[in-house]
Amino acid sequence: MSYEVLARKWRPKSFETLVGQDNTVQALSNALDNDRLHHAYLFTGTRGVGKTSLARILAKSLNCEQSISSKPCQKCSTCNDIDKGRFIDLIEVDAASNTQVDNMRDLLENSQYAPTSGRFKVYIIDEVHMLSKSAFNAMLKTLEEPPSHVKFILATTAPKNVPVTVISRCLQFNLKQMTAENISIHLKKILKEEEINAEDESLDLIAKAAHGSMRDALSILDQAIAYSGAEISTKNIISMLGTIDDIFLVSILNALVENNGKKVMGLAKEMNEKSVSFDLALEELARLIHKISTHQIIPDILNASSLNEEINKLSTIFTAESLQLAYQIAINGRRDLHLAPDPLTGFSMTLLRMLAFYPSTQPTNEFNSKKKIQSEVDIIKKKTNLKNEQSSVGNKEDNIFDGDWVKLVDGLKIGLAKSLAQECSLVSYEDYVFNLTLNKKFKHLTQNGYIEKLEEALINYFNRKIKLNISLGSDPKTPSMQKKLESAELKKTTESAIMEDNFIKELIDDFDAEVITSSIEPAKKKEN
Ligand SMILES: [Zn+2]
Repeated sequence: MSYEVLARKWRPKSFETLVGQDNTVQALSNALDNDRLHHAYLFTGTRGVGKTSLARILAKSLNCEQSISSKPCQKCSTCNDIDKGRFIDLIEVDAASNTQVDNMRDLLENSQYAPTSGRFKVYIIDEVHMLSKSAFNAMLKTLEEPPSHVKFILATTAPKNVPVTVISRCLQFNLKQMTAENISIHLKKILKEEEINAEDESLDLIAKAAHGSMRDALSILDQAIAYSGAEISTKNIISMLGTIDDIFLVSILNALVENNGKKVMGLAKEMNEKSVSFDLALEELARLIHKISTHQIIPDILNASSLNEEINKLSTIFTAESLQLAYQIAINGRRDLHLAPDPLTGFSMTLLRMLAFYPSTQPTNEFNSKKKIQSEVDIIKKKTNLKNEQSSVGNKEDNIFDGDWVKLVDGLKIGLAKSLAQECSLVSYEDYVFNLTLNKKFKHLTQNGYIEKLEEALINYFNRKIKLNISLGSDPKTPSMQKKLESAELKKTTESAIMEDNFIKELIDDFDAEVITSSIEPAKKKEN
């Protein structure tokens, strides 16, 4: 028996089996079941999301011999013929190859005659935006006064190129791009039926490579089966797709944190030897940075993945700002990759740029102003806040609380739980019992173990037992409010420092960079 490609074999034949388009399916099912039929539908969405599959299911629902319903029987000869693509009253036209007005006129003239065997004559016009202007005009006349036995189902990847006069006569549904997660789940289901084993991670890679198109995902899966046989492994898919082993990306970010330029360059070279696509590498790096950023905000968002531990770790080391910067550099590096002398150079320079901008407390070079400002602030901080620094290097000399909560919070090293501390104000304090009020707006910060982390940080700081009571309220004297006030003052100074910096000027001249002044934030709170 010849091999049937998966995309055809698994083409959804009912609304229930159509993946990822719940809203559209729901709306169409309601319309069908309540007999609220429209004469023209327009399905929009990127390629491979299921527009024509949906159109055929709708055609079946309209013509099933049992009744008009969202659940066509799938048994009658009409349902069968539609599935096999040989139902006489279903006319499918690919507008990309039938742009001429004459073809359209013939088609529309035919629509005047009653259907041969079905309830309705259904016209599916795919890529409808490709029709010529006169062809659209010819169609418009029929759309304005359609015979009651005619249904139009138009599909397009480019709704902007469809005349408004046409769009306004259609009931429009925008089909969503499928998420990689949805695709991955669907692939798993198919492989189970096909009795082919696959590592979960290999399916995730295929789903990602499909960029929201189920059809593409299935044809990659076809290739994967041809390539691997009955056992699809992550390793095979990586080499088949030229995908990047995540270990490389994680190692790059770790090397950034360590400020280890040599290691960064070594990794780039190693990737080059494995002939990975650097375009894909930067895309994946941006994706990983996005994951880490998201994890900082919503800690429980991670899907099952072997990278979770690394993502978790990196999310506590990187600041939100440095992740933003690294992301931007990755995106720009990818955009400019084709301008580089060669891909390896383009890729390495992008990594070096990340390194140059990665805020380090050690002023290893005077390369950029952000670092300079940061290191100056650190020096002031060291002078004025020696005690805090001592505790952070492990000198367990007991600290004494002087009643200044804002200053105390600033000296605590508590990662993400800092946001909790910053939205709290001190109501009263006595003998290492802290009574705090948390601004009601930030109630969510009491989750994720932040309270425990804050408590632990205070215990470490004072090197003794403490008690922490947090109630909800609305006292504005929180460190974060204090910071906002002070940073408004600092902002002006920082803004001019940045605008006068030679490196920034170079970026503006050479890279068309734009300084968004509203986004400038002073590196650290000014001390005293
Ligand atoms: Zn039927």
